[in-house]
Amino acid sequence: INIQNIRNFSIIAHIDHGKSTLADRLIEKTGSLDKREMKEQVLDSLEVERRHGITVKAQSVRMEYAFNGCLYELNMIDTPGHADFSYEVSKSLSACEGVLLVVDATQGVEAQTVANLYLALENDLEIIPVINKIDLPTADVEKTKSEIENLGLDVSNVILISAKNDIGTQEVLEAIIKYIPSPKVNDEGNLKALIIDSWYDNYKGVVCLIRVFEGEINLNDRIMIFSNKKEYNIENLSVLTPKPKDIEKLHAGEVGILISNIKNIEDVLVGDTVTLADNPAKQALKGFKKIKPFVYAGIYPTDTEKYDDLKEGLEKLKLNDSSLEYEPEKSDALGFGFRCGFLGMLHMNITKERLEEEFGLDIVVTTPSVLYKVEKTDDSILEISNPKDLPEPQFIKAIFEPYVSIDCLTPAEYIGSVLNLLQEKRGYQKNLSYLSSNRCLITYAAPLSEIIINFYDTLKSITKGYASFNYEFEGYKKSDLVKMIIMINNEPIDSFSQIIHKDKAYYYARDVLAKLKEFVPRQLFEIKLQAKVSGKIIAKEEIKALRKDVLAKCYGGDITRKRKLLEKQKEGKKKLKQLGKVAISKEAFMKLLEPA
Ligand code: GDP
Ligand code: MG
Repeated sequence: INIQNIRNFSIIAHIDHGKSTLADRLIEKTGSLDKREMKEQVLDSLEVERRHGITVKAQSVRMEYAFNGCLYELNMIDTPGHADFSYEVSKSLSACEGVLLVVDATQGVEAQTVANLYLALENDLEIIPVINKIDLPTADVEKTKSEIENLGLDVSNVILISAKNDIGTQEVLEAIIKYIPSPKVNDEGNLKALIIDSWYDNYKGVVCLIRVFEGEINLNDRIMIFSNKKEYNIENLSVLTPKPKDIEKLHAGEVGILISNIKNIEDVLVGDTVTLADNPAKQALKGFKKIKPFVYAGIYPTDTEKYDDLKEGLEKLKLNDSSLEYEPEKSDALGFGFRCGFLGMLHMNITKERLEEEFGLDIVVTTPSVLYKVEKTDDSILEISNPKDLPEPQFIKAIFEPYVSIDCLTPAEYIGSVLNLLQEKRGYQKNLSYLSSNRCLITYAAPLSEIIINFYDTLKSITKGYASFNYEFEGYKKSDLVKMIIMINNEPIDSFSQIIHKDKAYYYARDVLAKLKEFVPRQLFEIKLQAKVSGKIIAKEEIKALRKDVLAKCYGGDITRKRKLLEKQKEGKKKLKQLGKVAISKEAFMKLLEPA
């Protein structure tokens, strides 16, 4: 096909604004699948993604569409759907010449609308605004239009659609052809192809989605990965229509799927460049960086026998998820498990759910922590995520913590509460602007550690669910941080120690001790609870001794009831965790680990 007739585009939207539904309509309209094959949301492949309504792995579909007597090749490249993955979103977008920016007419512009728009602008893409869900009675097209305009976009060619009811979708296809430029390419040059995505397939091994920018790539070519110089033979080239279709070559400007004898997903990371081994390009495509986890937590099997199963689960997930990191760890209360690194909270939650659902594991996730940088008195820099690795205060010169930039969209009536919350989270304001008379965009910088714990839920509850937010890593800043140690009967309990801002230590200590007091059952002996910072006790509590007899309330007679009680008690014992000399139930322990 003539390069002039190729269009590469993505659909970007805030979650639930209708990206997948519109993608389905476009696939249906271009006749890529018949009705029988058309199952809802063909692009969302994994079960977890389907339920979350988010797409983690980018995919791409090649469609054909005839317009004004010409046949066009439309490559729709799906973007991963959340802030945790903004680097991957950006790479998907850099494979495109334009985007459809979908905004729900009943919701208006939201945080991810803004974040995705910024990424599209950074990549110099043509942006076609699309207002969706106009079928709904609560749709406010004019207001939505003016919010989009206040983001600095031209709304003269905005398209009004109902993806669900197939209204306006024809116009969307025509706009893609009319407004999105065809790829500008150099097909004479040495091969340069961008790895947009890579994943592990149980049957085919490592699979790469690539966009060719220069030169061309042919079946059986010997290729080289730019960053690590590793070489492979191309065993298969294909496109999804969305049914897989084998092809012989990909020209500059095209998008397709490559399979070679690549064993390790880490060798073909998103953003790297593929070139020819015999005739390599001199320079890589711009902007390759390996993304590092920002959020860390311990994952432990609730049943210690399941350690090997957990290990196997993590190994399998890692095949498909190069940003997941883990290493063995031992905890006083939880036994053997793993310290895991995630890109963000969504990534952490998805990983947890996949371990539970795909591998049938019952797991405990400890309170997440960020990656701190510690400058020691000998001038060396230590990176730590686990409070127990923090050196003693006399060896610390300074501690640095990651800050993020937060964009928060909220109805104007909640501005006060949102600013209070951000202030409480140790943030400082960078910007505040109105997108419409009652919709406000607040930009703040704040420590990531404050955002990963309880921020999302609190924001949602103080704005009755109306605010949305998005964050991006900004840099490390020096902070007044201390280690707080929780002790039960003078024994420190690692799982509860925390690196925390000096000004917050006291309140945090009170919270944790109050929770402990509530959830640790009375024992035959008195229990002393203490919180210590830099060698000083800053808070304490005690739990009085008690003799507990489960049968005391059963007067003689009912033997089955007695047996039931005893069995229940036995069941409970199995799940008991040992905290120092104090045993508590799994449920209580989980409650204790929930962030304060
Ligand atoms: P995504 O998260 O952006 O991929 O959003 P989805 O395509 O999954 O859509 C989210 C929800 O909105 C689903 O329940 C869709 O059925 C619904 N939806 C999508 N488009 C429309 C529309 O045009 N009208 C109405 N009424 N509902 C829609
Ligand atoms: Mg979707």
